[in-house]
Amino acid sequence: MPDGDGFDLLADETRASILRELAAARRETPRDPAVSFSTLRERVGITDSGRFNYHVGELTGHFVESTDDGYRLSPVGQQAASSILADAYSDPPDRGPVDLDEHCGRCGDRLEGTYEDGILRVNCANSHGYAEALPPAVLEGATLQEATDALDAKIRGDLAAVRRDACPACLGSVDWQFETDLSPEAPVEAVYVAVCQCCGHQHSLNPGMFVFDHPAVVAAYHDVGVDLRDRPLWTIDCCVPGAATLSSTDPPRMRVTAGPERDCEFRLDATATVVDAPEQDH
Ligand SMILES: [Zn+2]
Ligand SMILES: [Zn+2]
Repeated sequence: MPDGDGFDLLADETRASILRELAAARRETPRDPAVSFSTLRERVGITDSGRFNYHVGELTGHFVESTDDGYRLSPVGQQAASSILADAYSDPPDRGPVDLDEHCGRCGDRLEGTYEDGILRVNCANSHGYAEALPPAVLEGATLQEATDALDAKIRGDLAAVRRDACPACLGSVDWQFETDLSPEAPVEAVYVAVCQCCGHQHSLNPGMFVFDHPAVVAAYHDVGVDLRDRPLWTIDCCVPGAATLSSTDPPRMRVTAGPERDCEFRLDATATVVDAPEQDH
């Protein structure tokens, strides 16, 4: 990679266009994504061949691969093109609020969806809910209700990453903190915070997020005909802040109740490890 980081390299509009056009070529002909130098130059709309050659050269190696058939995106270039195409850093239009076809897992109130300043929110009137920064691509040709599927997927994906100590933003390793000194207005008594040691990203998780997919909880829902895989997280009681209490400070223990009858009881320690779970039926 030449001098400068990837951000500098892609800050140039011509280089961003090259990635965009190579991504378009991959979309149009997935099995034959390579584009010749002259075709790529035409697609990007640069007449000065020397100047275009310079920009392609800057990208080649890290973001773009040069093959006998022409240029194509490298795996890293594909990732960069995805975020350019998702329009992640633009100023997206606001949408909503709209009533969703779902009810809060904690209080049963109707949920509402909004997209404001690049943040998609699902909330009930009692402020139970979730919010995440999502690129405007999630609303491309989709209703707010449909876009909440992407929010659910994002939260589940992030959760899978941090539970394996990987930062959801950069996949660097995270350090865990257990925070009990929260403001009196906070809807929870404690949170687990994963802090990325690489990019500084902080990811807060309420304790119920560590038990909602425990086999005892999955089975209890299954017994009443609910497949938890089909349910967005904000409709699952223990995933909504408020299902956990700090039952002891020394040693630190969170008590979480889960399941359709809230009768699956767990205790978690300061590292979010389950130290006490419902007995297994034999
Ligand atoms: Zn609620
Ligand atoms: Zn990170």
